Amino acid sequence: MAGHPRTKAICARFPRASQVFCERYGEVFNPKAQDFRLQKQKPALILANKHDRRVLETPAGYGIGGERNYYFSHMLNCLYDCRYCFLQGMYRSAHYVLFVNYEDFYSEIDGILENANGEPCWFFSGYDCDSLALEPVTAFAEQFLPFFASRPQARFELRTKSTQVRSLLSQEALPNAVVAFSFTPEEIHGTLEHKVPGIQRRIDSMRQLQHAGWSLGLRFDPLIYQPGYREHYRTLFQQVFSQLDATRLHSVSLGTFRLPRSYFRNILRLYPDEPLYAGSFAESGGMISYPEEQEREITGFCTAELLNHIPESLLFPCAVAA
Ligand code: SF4
Repeated sequence: MAGHPRTKAICARFPRASQVFCERYGEVFNPKAQDFRLQKQKPALILANKHDRRVLETPAGYGIGGERNYYFSHMLNCLYDCRYCFLQGMYRSAHYVLFVNYEDFYSEIDGILENANGEPCWFFSGYDCDSLALEPVTAFAEQFLPFFASRPQARFELRTKSTQVRSLLSQEALPNAVVAFSFTPEEIHGTLEHKVPGIQRRIDSMRQLQHAGWSLGLRFDPLIYQPGYREHYRTLFQQVFSQLDATRLHSVSLGTFRLPRSYFRNILRLYPDEPLYAGSFAESGGMISYPEEQEREITGFCTAELLNHIPESLLFPCAVAA
């Protein structure tokens, strides 16, 4: 792996970085008794090979209209630091892991396509990371987009809160790709989405992409229930839809805050004073989420508000873990 051209190219970008070699990335990433909060302040970049389980079926309920849905992560962890993010409860380490063997992901995706009898297959990226946040280093979109361009049977979603869209704007818009941007209202962005580019900057990036012909998605996930949420979400929707051409959007999805129980506990240990977790929650099937009534209330309100801007055919509720 150390000799992989992608490893060499990335190391050449950071000539002054100290390098530590190891057999398996898990030796560094997995040990217990690591301090996620401390590492998050100065994460290292681990370059590794992904040996197996590269492309997986999504949990039931995850998708935007397709029958066959898969996800994959070229990275673990994220440049940003959202206080509601499940990654902080899932991993012991906040270091970034970048899997450099993109070609093995390509082969696995091709294998899935071959077995799909010509049916469309969706491939979602940005599950355990943000698809574009580290694009200048990873060249993920730059390299995966040409791969998907020659596979029209595949559908590819990039999911992001980033404004790193230069590599997309330098390519022809792909008819089988969707660039999906996630948003929460300003009040939540300001308090919970540390280091995430501002809402208007993300909308500006979306406008550029839409102008260049890219198909876009909007992801209002997680919906956060807090005092004043109605006004906050109404304002957000107005801000977004007054600047984008809603008739050319691919899809809009929404889902309330939810976390597997073990992740929730881990995050509480990391941030015991975080007001986000001071509200009331319910547990069902190993998942922690808002009590049913609150969940129904906020989903109902946001759905009704969104339908003032888009047709129902574009709207996809999400029922699985964020
Ligand atoms: S942008 Fe997404 S992946 Fe990154 S910290 Fe926020 S929620 Fe997590």
